[in-house]
Amino acid sequence: MKLFQPDLIYFEPQALEYPLGKELYDRYKHTGIPVRMTTSHNRITDLPGENDLEKYRIAKKTLVVGVRKTLTFEPSKPSAEYAIPLATGCMGHCHYCYLQTTMGNRPYIRVYVNLDEIFARAKRYIQERAPEITRFEAACTSDPVGIEHISGSLKKAIEFMGKQELGRLRFVTKFSNVDSLLDVAHNGHTRFRFSVNADYVIRHFEPSTAPLHERIEAATKVAQAGYPLGFIIAPLMVYQGWEEDYTQLLNHLSEALPHTEGITFELITHRFTQTAKRVIQERYPKSKLEMEEENRQKKWGRYGRVKYVYQKEQMQALHRHMTEQIERFFPGASIEYFT
Ligand code: SF4
Repeated sequence: MKLFQPDLIYFEPQALEYPLGKELYDRYKHTGIPVRMTTSHNRITDLPGENDLEKYRIAKKTLVVGVRKTLTFEPSKPSAEYAIPLATGCMGHCHYCYLQTTMGNRPYIRVYVNLDEIFARAKRYIQERAPEITRFEAACTSDPVGIEHISGSLKKAIEFMGKQELGRLRFVTKFSNVDSLLDVAHNGHTRFRFSVNADYVIRHFEPSTAPLHERIEAATKVAQAGYPLGFIIAPLMVYQGWEEDYTQLLNHLSEALPHTEGITFELITHRFTQTAKRVIQERYPKSKLEMEEENRQKKWGRYGRVKYVYQKEQMQALHRHMTEQIERFFPGASIEYFT
């Protein structure tokens, strides 16, 4: 898959006071990609586009280089204690992506250049929780591997966490450009997770992400580089032939990987809110994503928000099948959660 390159770039003036901001500005100002200045990375008011859909598509190809001012990290349950903010936004076009709703009308890709300040804050969180281990999730609001060739931030975060006795980093990706991360001194403190799915789901609902065989190849390199490795299978979907497809996926993965010990799995079934459904239908009007409320059961989330999840029997069938097949193909692996 070709590495992502933006069609348009904005810089906050303050970002140029940081080495990474200056480096990106110097790199891009001669490339022919339009470079503009913006007073705030949170408020881009002059994005081109005739209508909302066009603006959305352009935003997904727009990079904004800024300074992260909020250095209070959000919680990131269940996979980590905190979300570490390296970037916000993603160039992928996964129909079901929760960023559709959480990023509202700001779907452009923001990278933050004040990395030393972000790492200093992470260090304080680690000290506050000592002697407990503190885990940081770097993929809560973006796919950091997808933009690593631009920012290099993940490499720095992995190096930083490698030196923290009580700090751990984790992130998940649907991209495969991992080569620059293979020789980093991770010290076993970073868990590299790949988001994988049945071929049907990837083909229909994950445009502009790496194809499965590239993700598997990247996972193999990461395992060989000694990183703790995991897979997130999300969203697990029920459709004609899902059992066979997920079995095939796990079989394929186990054959490609050099070992299965210590691998973790996180399993998340497909769910949607009514707000997400409306946004998805606007942005991907031809999507085949099944979102019929009457086929689902309701689940109340935080702030009384209703999510539509699969019916109880379907959830049980998914849980049973995935557990059996993971035990079959990955005897040394563990399932961290199923939801
Ligand atoms: Fe969202 Fe991940 Fe797809 Fe990017 S790759 S659009 S973050 S689901």
